[in-house]
Amino acid sequence: AERLARAERMIRSIPDYPEPGVLFRDITPLLADAAALRTVVEAMIAPFEGRFDVVAGVEARGFLLAGAAAIAAGVGLVPIRKQGKLPRPAAAVSYDLEYGSATIEAHDDMPVGCRVLLLDDVLATGGTLRAAHELVDRLGARVVGTAVLMELEALGGRALVGDVHAVFRVS
Ligand code: 5GP
Repeated sequence: AERLARAERMIRSIPDYPEPGVLFRDITPLLADAAALRTVVEAMIAPFEGRFDVVAGVEARGFLLAGAAAIAAGVGLVPIRKQGKLPRPAAAVSYDLEYGSATIEAHDDMPVGCRVLLLDDVLATGGTLRAAHELVDRLGARVVGTAVLMELEALGGRALVGDVHAVFRVS
């Protein structure tokens, strides 16, 4: 618990980024610290231990945590990418942003029924993780859990995404 508290204090809050009025949670100081990184990655996967075959990380900060989580759990990694980055996407899902929309894509490198743990750094409105869940469904795999490093509770993402394991929560 003390190690988690120390890691949480390493998350930096940046006012007015990327636009005025937004308080951005910057996890890079935490990532740069060996003990904090190990502590949070282990906390993200612990509730799901032995129950998933692969982790899927959402571009871009989700990749950083998913790579570490895959090695820690002894499983493989599937990247969920922004449109146009993968050479042969097998499925795509579009979702609404505050202004406009976005599309995410993935390859189909999982066997049918593969048990997927979905990972991202921050849960805000939930649009991204909801779309990622839908994407995994379309590939014929199965989301057995969703974990984030930090949940921004005030944005209500949990209502959209459902059950999420959040290592840290801020209102
Ligand atoms: P949502 O779709 O839940 O509104 O937004 C989540 C996505 O936006 C995540 O992929 C996350 O990386 C990014 N995001 C939104 N707010 C923040 C923030 O304050 N800090 C960080 N690091 N990422 C954020």
